[in-house]
Amino acid sequence: MKKNKIIVIGGGYAGLRAIEKLAKNPQNEIILFDKQSYHFMQTDVYDLIANEEDFAQVSVDLFTFCLGFDGNVAFVKEEVMQVDFENKKVISNTQRYQYDQLIIAVGARTKHVESVKGLRTHAHGIKVLHRAMYFKQKFEMALYKKVQLSGTTCHPMNIVVAGGGLSGVEIAAQMASFAKEFYKKNNFMCRRLNIVLINSGAQILQGLDAKLVQKSDKRLQNLGVRICHNTKVAEITEESVTLSTGEKLPIDFMVFAGGIEPNALVCELNLEKNQKGYIITNEYLQVPQYPEVYAIGDCTTIYDGDVVVSPTADVAEQMAEHCAKNIENLLQNKELLPHKIKSRGILIALGRRYAVGRIFGVYIGGYFAFITKKIVEKLYAKMLDRRSHLGCRKIFEQN
Ligand SMILES: Cc1cc2nc3c(=O)[nH]c(=O)nc-3n(C[C@H](O)[C@H](O)[C@H](O)COP(=O)(O)OP(=O)(O)OC[C@H]3O[C@@H](n4cnc5c(N)ncnc54)[C@H](O)[C@@H]3O)c2cc1C
Repeated sequence: MKKNKIIVIGGGYAGLRAIEKLAKNPQNEIILFDKQSYHFMQTDVYDLIANEEDFAQVSVDLFTFCLGFDGNVAFVKEEVMQVDFENKKVISNTQRYQYDQLIIAVGARTKHVESVKGLRTHAHGIKVLHRAMYFKQKFEMALYKKVQLSGTTCHPMNIVVAGGGLSGVEIAAQMASFAKEFYKKNNFMCRRLNIVLINSGAQILQGLDAKLVQKSDKRLQNLGVRICHNTKVAEITEESVTLSTGEKLPIDFMVFAGGIEPNALVCELNLEKNQKGYIITNEYLQVPQYPEVYAIGDCTTIYDGDVVVSPTADVAEQMAEHCAKNIENLLQNKELLPHKIKSRGILIALGRRYAVGRIFGVYIGGYFAFITKKIVEKLYAKMLDRRSHLGCRKIFEQN
């Protein structure tokens, strides 16, 4: 029987879930492309920063993950540079690969604001693993320096987080909570810590549930985080950040989490895009010009009625499952199904052992929400790890 060649670009939440589903059919021959050799669990970054997890616990090796299937999934560690949609070919720096079906799941990147002077040089990102690790080390080093100076001087530690979205809020809360516990546990005299969250809108977590926004705001304030609303970052130097209000803040370091934008490949692709530059898809998650091409996860925008469904890992995974189902239906000459994807819930980590969230319409908070978030994350990691472990075993059995 002729094999169905599926190429998946991007081994993130969307790409891996689509592969899990599609690999069940032995007729499917799947190739995963990713420019990195690992899947990065961005939802766990807050734990990486607080030393609760190391980098191995927030990443999954894509080679062994793909090997863990029954021989019908291969991994190519290459950046996809372009797609020839007319001839159904994915183009990397070295080769062209033919596909019958293509799934674009390349996510998004941290928004780069050209007008902010010094952004590239002096601010840390967290959306890719090596940057998150570098930032974590910088944070620890800054704590160490303060401890070393303890008893002689007591300058506060100054951290600025730009971006009042999910990642900015989680990072600010985690750093505030971690540093407080760290100072207290070790009985250090100098415990002064200033964390400022810069938010361009009138409230944090724009687009999320009003009650969760209120709870998160309160928690940040309890942790001593100062929030500057309706404010943007104008300039960054090694020592300071100048805000759009003219205020100048001293910094030990700064994190930039100021939203997301379409990534380099999405910008290159000759496909219909929406106003923000994301790939337009129809109700079946297909690209309208090329029905054999699907776009899922953060690289596209989906709607619940007229409302944009916020891009999260949960939504990316739902899109992946729906896309896989439609590809299977197509193979079996069944009708394609329109998606009805909604956010099933959100859990926001707000410091050590504290979270708030809404799951299937029910609000939860505090330690219970934290544990729920941990369980969700652990189950996800366990599932990938099991597959990767199978792949690893195959390698050692062969040798
Ligand atoms: C700090 C932080 C905290 C977050 N917390 C939460 C949370 O608590 N809950 C939640 O639901 N969501 C959270 N999110 C959002 C969530 O991580 C994203 O919505 C999710 O990662 C989207 O999945 P994706 O598969 O579309 O993209 P990604 O997971 O970003 O994966 C995209 C993949 O594509 C690869 N790629 C990109 N371009 C190319 C190319 N040209 N060639 C080959 N490979 C390429 C990348 O290397 C990457 O592996 C958080 C995000 C951040 C940054």
